[in-house]
Amino acid sequence: MSYFYDLWDDFISLLFPRLCYGCGNHLMRNETLICTECYILIPRTNYHLKPDNPVSQLFWGRCNIERASAFSFYTRDSRIRKLIHQLKYKGIKEIGSELGRIYGNTLKSSEFLKEIDLIIPVPLHPSRKRQRGFNQSDLIACGLSESTGIPVDSGILARKTLTKTQTRKSRYDRWTNVQDIFKVTGEDGLKDMHVLLVDDVITTGSTIEACANELLKGDNIKVSVAALAFSVM
Ligand SMILES: [Zn+2]
Repeated sequence: MSYFYDLWDDFISLLFPRLCYGCGNHLMRNETLICTECYILIPRTNYHLKPDNPVSQLFWGRCNIERASAFSFYTRDSRIRKLIHQLKYKGIKEIGSELGRIYGNTLKSSEFLKEIDLIIPVPLHPSRKRQRGFNQSDLIACGLSESTGIPVDSGILARKTLTKTQTRKSRYDRWTNVQDIFKVTGEDGLKDMHVLLVDDVITTGSTIEACANELLKGDNIKVSVAALAFSVM
């Protein structure tokens, strides 16, 4: 029976090939979304094992972050860049939750998530979310939550205004542009909590810094950071 099933399966995949979102090669029967080669070749930082890493150093002297890490290096030719691109601009939402799950499984085996009570995704402005149809950080946060069992709350932190496109701005301009644009709703619920802020790509850290500063106004709140990728371009 399973022989015929496999045969049928092969026939279907000839007609409708399932391709890897990282490299475009055909996926094997046991692979979903990302092939084994791409999975292995994602350039992992392993910063969760190294407290004084370059991502946590971004926040030194800027805001009080307990722990910070990123899953992968984000470089021009990296597979993670291709995957995040497919997620954000081609709308392949499953990539977000899948990468979140993978990262959660990595973090689980370390002390990085110790005493983390809640996962909070970095919010997109509502109009951009409407445009895209989803917030990629929500999806990553949900995947992280699924593999770690830590609950996620995507409603407690919100954006106030839309920032102009940040890509061509200087570091200082980007910094001034994102300060004071987040608000916390119902911060009493976060009292005494250690929250994990989740984003897709960390570049200068200014967006995370603005989120963290808003959260840190609350009563005895600790903030840690986890991103899918750390831009070194
Ligand atoms: Zn691949």
